[in-house]
Amino acid sequence: MGYDLERFVGYVNEGLLCCVCRDVLERPLQAPCEHTYCSACISSWLLHHHSCPEDRLPLDVSTLKPLYRYMRNDLNRLQIRCVNAEQGCEVVCSLENLHTHEDECEFAFISCSNTGCPVQVERRGLEAHLSECNFRSRECPNGCGHTLLSTDQSQHNCVAELHAEVEVMRTEMLCKVEEVRREMESRLDSQRRHMVQKESQLKSEVEELKGQLSRVMCDMRALLGAERLRRQELAEAELEKRELLELLRDLQPTRSPRPAEQTAGDHPRGDRQTSGWEARAEST
Ligand SMILES: [Zn+2]
Ligand SMILES: [Zn+2]
Ligand SMILES: [Zn+2]
Ligand SMILES: [Zn+2]
Ligand SMILES: [Zn+2]
Repeated sequence: MGYDLERFVGYVNEGLLCCVCRDVLERPLQAPCEHTYCSACISSWLLHHHSCPEDRLPLDVSTLKPLYRYMRNDLNRLQIRCVNAEQGCEVVCSLENLHTHEDECEFAFISCSNTGCPVQVERRGLEAHLSECNFRSRECPNGCGHTLLSTDQSQHNCVAELHAEVEVMRTEMLCKVEEVRREMESRLDSQRRHMVQKESQLKSEVEELKGQLSRVMCDMRALLGAERLRRQELAEAELEKRELLELLRDLQPTRSPRPAEQTAGDHPRGDRQTSGWEARAEST
């Protein structure tokens, strides 16, 4: 389909019109009969016909050629209004530059750049739309740190979101605490086992020491008994010795005559014994 003749500013040579659509040639092709057509127009015509739509001369796709250079130049120099003129674009440019302009025309409708947004806006209005687009995402204005689509914003509940997050953290924490507790317990258990072992070892050592002590006490008692006995014997021996000495002293006066007799009054028992012993000695 060609360009609407209405869009052109100034005179357009009739030779630059399509013989099928009667508009200004778009991507033109030329037949051997020198009639010209838009590429799309002649392609669809030839699906059902085998002749030139203008003069009915036989025509085949393979015989179509590009436009003469001078005609191409004339066509390229035609001044045309922007396709978005109805929206307010006042740009008029050569047909050659039309696509370049239309690709960046501020009045062209384009899709919103947010994924999922079906809105089509003029290029110049995109910024304004983006600021109110339902598919824009931004941080929660209440500061919970979540990124929200503006459509979710009404259902967003900071407290609930944070609560859920805290729950997750709490669960993780409990898991960790449980892990630490188990580790401590097993460590304590092994220490307890060690202590019990040590205790029984100490107990048996104490028992052994007790046995040794009682044996030592027994020996001590025996020794003390023996000592007491010895002392007793010693005392008895001492007594005996003293008696013998006394006896010996009593015997002395018999060897030195008479003077002992005068002192005999001091020892009545010895005196008596002496006198008795003396009496027996005298009688024999
Ligand atoms: Zn055409
Ligand atoms: Zn023709
Ligand atoms: Zn424009
Ligand atoms: Zn949008
Ligand atoms: Zn929030």
